[in-house]
Amino acid sequence: MADATTTVAPVPRVRVRSMKEYHPPLGSRDAMRLDFNENTLECSPRVRETLAQISAGALTRYPERAPVEAIVAAHLGLRAEQVALTNGVDEAIHVLFETFLEAGDEVLMPVPTYTMYEVYASATDARVVTVQAADDLLFPFERLMAAITPRTKVIAIANPNSPSGSVTTRAQLLELAQRAPQAVLLVDEAYFHFFGETVMDLVGTLPNLVVARTFSKAYGLAGLRLGLLAGPADLVRWVRRVLSPYSVNSLALACLPPALEDTAYLDWYVGEVLAARAEFEAALDAAEVRRWPSRTNFVLVEIGARHGEFVRLMREAGVLVRDRSSDPGCDGRVRITIGTRGQMRQAVTALNNALAALRAEGRK
Ligand code: PMP
Repeated sequence: MADATTTVAPVPRVRVRSMKEYHPPLGSRDAMRLDFNENTLECSPRVRETLAQISAGALTRYPERAPVEAIVAAHLGLRAEQVALTNGVDEAIHVLFETFLEAGDEVLMPVPTYTMYEVYASATDARVVTVQAADDLLFPFERLMAAITPRTKVIAIANPNSPSGSVTTRAQLLELAQRAPQAVLLVDEAYFHFFGETVMDLVGTLPNLVVARTFSKAYGLAGLRLGLLAGPADLVRWVRRVLSPYSVNSLALACLPPALEDTAYLDWYVGEVLAARAEFEAALDAAEVRRWPSRTNFVLVEIGARHGEFVRLMREAGVLVRDRSSDPGCDGRVRITIGTRGQMRQAVTALNNALAALRAEGRK
């Protein structure tokens, strides 16, 4: 009888076999979390109260998302058919790509950008076309426009972008949408609350504009996995063919209305982060650390060849930061999430100590 070593084993698709492995460092994070651009504190107390009231019986039921979708749509000034809730924006990206990308199509994106666009795109049969930003990491608008072809089927833009913190203007987004009518223009507004500018008001007026939002950042609900896609009803209808009707769990659905209602909490947290960012940027300038201008809750900084050691020293001081050296064009650069002013003052102390240690080593 054939044993396991001689049996023919199932082989994944060619595209899957050539995919890169992606293992974000999610382990051992009991420290100050300035590594994943999450809310660094906690969610609204109203969300906490809602969670506490969920009965054991309620958990036996499958989640019903339609009423909550109607609430979110109204909150965004849209119709319910224009909005789909998803298991984080990651699921939104995944189902959007599965819905639209065929063999021979192209997915266009500036890089560096959010890693999961490339992960999900490379799992389809489409070709990934990247446009490298210059050293200033500003949005490479002209070159992106020039890279559009009749095969461009999705253009993925995080606005603000990560890890740079740079932005795309509304006028640029409009031009892209008009230049590529055959493509879905995905504008990922994961960091909208810190930036304050949006194209959500254009949803439904442009046939190819899709906007994504997450509850993982300002709202502080990354653990619940909650995101959304908003777009023309015709387009969202196709996405729903692919999207699981069960993927957003009932705890997340229950927490969404109180999270939306507690605008005081959201405004407080965003205000705190923006004040902390100004202080932190001043501290970086005083320490003569190169930084990229940020419109959101993180800052990219230049550490140089000793980036790995810097991240380790920060961790030893109880502060987690994210090495972005393997991002295209980001060698030696580290991304630091902005938390509250109190947290960032501690982070500045850790940063100055780490830099002093590296500089002392360098002089030896
Ligand atoms: N989009 C961008 C630009 C992000 O930076 C992130 C999180 N790092 C996400 C989407 C993921 O959002 P979610 O947690 O809703 O999947």
